[in-house]
Amino acid sequence: MKVLITGGAGFIGSHLTEYLLDRGDAVTVLDDLSTGQLDNLSRAFDNPALSFHQGSILDADLVRRLAADADVVFHLAAALGVYTILEDPLGSLKTNLVGTEVVLDAARESQCRILVASTSEIYGKNTTIGLHEDADRVMGSPLKTRWSYAEAKALDETLTHIFREWHGLRAVLVRLFNTVGPRQTGRYGMVVPRFVGQALAGEPLTVHGSGEQTRCFAHVAEVVPALVRLVEHPAAQHGIFNLGNSRQISIEQLARTVIEVLGSTSDIVHVPYEEAYGPGYEDMQRRVPDCSRARELIGFSPTLDVEYIIQSVATAARTERSDVAVLAG
Ligand code: UDP
Repeated sequence: MKVLITGGAGFIGSHLTEYLLDRGDAVTVLDDLSTGQLDNLSRAFDNPALSFHQGSILDADLVRRLAADADVVFHLAAALGVYTILEDPLGSLKTNLVGTEVVLDAARESQCRILVASTSEIYGKNTTIGLHEDADRVMGSPLKTRWSYAEAKALDETLTHIFREWHGLRAVLVRLFNTVGPRQTGRYGMVVPRFVGQALAGEPLTVHGSGEQTRCFAHVAEVVPALVRLVEHPAAQHGIFNLGNSRQISIEQLARTVIEVLGSTSDIVHVPYEEAYGPGYEDMQRRVPDCSRARELIGFSPTLDVEYIIQSVATAARTERSDVAVLAG
């Protein structure tokens, strides 16, 4: 396959790039390197089947040119991470809304298949245990900036739906639940790399709020093959699929597990939401997927547990730290 990956230098995108190159596909990466990093592709750069373009998904000419040559587009580029959305709400909205329209339009024009990455965030404050793809969205006020990410992604889904129902686009939608692994940075908010970094540095782990809120964490190595299987499965076209792990853990328990698994001497501190994210911040208390649709179609059934995930993130973080130490002399 000839594949275009938007956001291919990001956390999930770079793992997908390696996965596809390893099985012999030709991969073109488009990334503006806002949150993605060239370092993430250091292993992939040895492969002549990789072509890298630094640029924005808002550049319609560039996107059209790159998509013209592709059999499949994976649209992963987005402004993401709670801190990114809160710091640049307008820029984030433009990227997530207008950028997706540009990519969808280019895929329609080139008549290739496309997978559009959406998010579990669109379920908002719905705390049902086992959120099915048809579950209702429970959103806070549109004036609370946090929700603008979910709103943009929900409109991306609607746009995708319109493009495929009215304009013949072959598109798969996936809603990614918390996905974790090497190369994910804690800089933009993500809790696992933050806790692991804090534990390795012997600093206190910063649990926001009571810590009773729960999340479910899937390892990127189990999510990436599912993306490929879905885009290749004829019965997945026109579908929408949750992808994630269904085992929930509270953030307090996550912090304790990180400390235990890494044998760290760090303490846990509780930081009020207002202090972490500013006044009026709303969090979700729970977010547990029902992935039966993906399980039935492609056998998606992640097994890697949170202890393994923590070890895997810590191993990668230690390597990065020793690289930095070597470079620093
Ligand atoms: N969180 C935390 N400490 C941190 C970073 C995040 O307690 O240093 C919490 C955050 O408030 C949320 C959960 O961990 O309740 C997951 O946050 P993340 O940003 O990783 O993902 P999302 O909120 O999008 O699920």
